[in-house]
Amino acid sequence: MSRKVRHVLGISGGKDSAALAMYMKIRHPEIEMEYYFTDTGKELDETYELIQELESFLGKKILNLEANHSHKNPFDHYLDIYNGFLPSSMARWCTLKLKLEPFEKWIGDDLAISYVGIRDDEDREGYVSTKANIQSIFPFRKHIWSIEVLHKVLHNTNREKVTKLYQLHGAVEMMDRFVEIVLEPQSPKYMFSQKLKDLLQLSISTFNYVVFDFLKDEDFPVSYLDEFSLLDNEDSIDLNKVLQLFKTNGVKVPGYYDEIEFEVNGQKGVYNRSRSGCYFCFYQRKIEWIWLYERHHDLFLKAQEYEKEGYSWMDNETLEQIIHPERMAQIKLDYIATLQKKLIGKNRSNKLVDILASDSEICANCFI
Ligand code: SF4
Repeated sequence: MSRKVRHVLGISGGKDSAALAMYMKIRHPEIEMEYYFTDTGKELDETYELIQELESFLGKKILNLEANHSHKNPFDHYLDIYNGFLPSSMARWCTLKLKLEPFEKWIGDDLAISYVGIRDDEDREGYVSTKANIQSIFPFRKHIWSIEVLHKVLHNTNREKVTKLYQLHGAVEMMDRFVEIVLEPQSPKYMFSQKLKDLLQLSISTFNYVVFDFLKDEDFPVSYLDEFSLLDNEDSIDLNKVLQLFKTNGVKVPGYYDEIEFEVNGQKGVYNRSRSGCYFCFYQRKIEWIWLYERHHDLFLKAQEYEKEGYSWMDNETLEQIIHPERMAQIKLDYIATLQKKLIGKNRSNKLVDILASDSEICANCFI
């Protein structure tokens, strides 16, 4: 059954969603993509510069989805409604009100595929809507499906159905192995992740076709497509390839990722901001607050103005406290030491942005 399905891609201001927009335009020009940006009104200037650059590259407007239409900017409008209660990782009203609600309102009841730029070298799940009419797809990963879809397809009760689909789509010479893997039930000895890995190792595109056909009997947006060009895509995009996309296409990587050298008590280090999002985002690390203080002093002061009536951006100290010279030096020294430990233990990129972003709590809506 065919029904109109929209294809949408959210630009967060981060490098990965921007790279995905470039990638989709180059690799999948046949997909009529709608680009959008949910503006909190508190983003860094570099984010707005990136949006402008991308618009010229894409030759398309990136729709700005405003959370409210009052005279106040979106964040301040909702802060008033929440009586000055600053958002935090435990009470993240900002993401809900400024990102998710405007997006879901814009989609309404339409069927939509939302393209998400989680890279293949990341171990995290992206935004998956709770609304059944919005389905997330991940073109940078080896397979493009959300975890929810994968669990459904590989569920033990579906082994026969999936076997038939493999018999339809799989290469004859590999059929015995396909069937063997599919029929082996998931168990503590043969876990979901291993089964998925085994199937993908044999053939990613065959797996994609099997999932696509499986979903025909379900009620996902993809179920309504007659064909889907991403099924043949076996690309795996990691951080280096993301940066390459910027270089090849002449789009500037947002300046806040630039590694800047600093010195403290005779020791040298480099810092930057590891993600896009609001300049006062509570997810940023202490060293990023110091970066903000030293590199965007005006924004730091603005962030500080929000800390009143007992509210602060961090749990255990205020912005006023962290810029005390001794405390600032300690934060820098701790950071240098932590980074050195991570570099010793690392086995992939040595880029600061990767090291910082790889192991901390993150918001998939704001920072992709
Ligand atoms: S960037 Fe941070 S503060 Fe801004 S909306 Fe996202 S989670 Fe909230």
